[in-house]
Amino acid sequence: MADLKVSEMKDLTRIERIGAHSHIRGLGLDDTLEARTVSQGMVGQKAARKAAGVILQMIKEGKIAGRAVLLAGQPGTGKTAIAMGMAKALGQETPFAMMAGSEIFSLEMSKTEALTQAFRKAIGVRIKEETEIIEGEVVEIQIDRPAATGAASKTGKVTLKTTDMETVYDLGTKMIEALSKEKVQSGDVIAIDKASGKVSKLGRSFARSRDYDAMGPQTRFVQCPDGELQKRKEVVHVVTLHEIDVINSRTQGFLALFAGDTGEIRPEVREQINSKVAEWREEGKAEIIPGVLFIDEVHMLDIECFSFLNRALENEMAPILVVATNRGITRIRGTNYRSPHGIPIDLLDRLLIISTQPYTEEEIRRILDIRCEEEDVEMSEDARELLTKIGHETSLRYAIHLITAAALACQKRKGKEVEIEDISRVYSLFIDVKRSTQFLMEYQEQFMFNEVPDQLNDEQ
Ligand code: ATP
Repeated sequence: MADLKVSEMKDLTRIERIGAHSHIRGLGLDDTLEARTVSQGMVGQKAARKAAGVILQMIKEGKIAGRAVLLAGQPGTGKTAIAMGMAKALGQETPFAMMAGSEIFSLEMSKTEALTQAFRKAIGVRIKEETEIIEGEVVEIQIDRPAATGAASKTGKVTLKTTDMETVYDLGTKMIEALSKEKVQSGDVIAIDKASGKVSKLGRSFARSRDYDAMGPQTRFVQCPDGELQKRKEVVHVVTLHEIDVINSRTQGFLALFAGDTGEIRPEVREQINSKVAEWREEGKAEIIPGVLFIDEVHMLDIECFSFLNRALENEMAPILVVATNRGITRIRGTNYRSPHGIPIDLLDRLLIISTQPYTEEEIRRILDIRCEEEDVEMSEDARELLTKIGHETSLRYAIHLITAAALACQKRKGKEVEIEDISRVYSLFIDVKRSTQFLMEYQEQFMFNEVPDQLNDEQ
């Protein structure tokens, strides 16, 4: 365990799939966190997007951990879309794990194990690794101010650009001199003329300029106690606690990460990892990045899971929990009690609730436009109008599904763009919930299991 394996994780990247939410690229907020009407693939739902943005801001500033947010609203009002927008806005480094409530009822692992894994997928560890520097690299030098200046504990951090190792050593020494003469101070960017050894300041604005950004990976020089410079380069990896668990769980091995089939992880492994990570944090080698865990259809969890969540949120490393449901007052699974959203009152009490509202016809139209573009579908003005009407009267999701089907119908007749006839065709081929229900009412007795007693209705 002493040499906890992390290096094998370096090359794992996220795989993006084209799916129902592939058009969402963020929350579409401006600098003051106000929602733009249409931005980053997001349309309307302004209050909810703004609220989600405020939460994100708090996450980014590290102000909240272990908090939970509930996205509540009718089906198809963009709850999952908002959660995806949050994930995108967080950026690559902050982990975002997503699961549906029903996923915990798996035969392969216990419910609490599934939730523990989900939590640990949402906790990132930023690990700093030190390696040798390579000739020709851009370096950042960090030097303890020599004791002679009378400010022994102060640290000066100066950045410079250089091309060869010899210069690096030489400049390191010059820099100590410069620092000791108070010519430069922490944060200054300096240039040192190799021939004359003359130190000149490039000014702080340079540190904010493009040239500075273009300087590439940062390398550090640390002064040894005896005054000699040691070459060190910092490489930073961000991995999740779950990835560290899997890689170090002897029965699984890191290939399990690709298969997603990780099985149960022994508690001893996790304990060892927790203490190792705590050690790294103390040594300044690692930092914890609490990410976001999104649980969709949260009403599918049962009372055991809810009490697990309550407890897990108390942990100091806990991620932000975002849950979503489209249920009103319903039974809490595993009990005979009913409660708002099927969530026990003690957990509800911890939640910041964001509600989503049904869309107007104009908003539906804009979402459909975005989806047409995303799916590369050309559609005539009339067809768009008809599809918007269908979306308004049935559901947004049904209308979105019809786009793909209508495009196929258009392709079949070798048309250039989707016309009203294609929409009508698929509208009659695939029926929406309302028509399906009507059909069931009319022909109920011809179906199997048609006598569902009333009290079971809210159990699904
Ligand atoms: P359910 O309660 O049934 O799970 P939901 O509230 O999670 O529904 P979504 O799945 O987010 O709804 O929305 C349905 C579809 O509409 C998705 O493809 C989603 O990306 C899209 N969508 C919803 N709201 C918006 C929005 N405001 N802007 C752009 N696209 C949206």
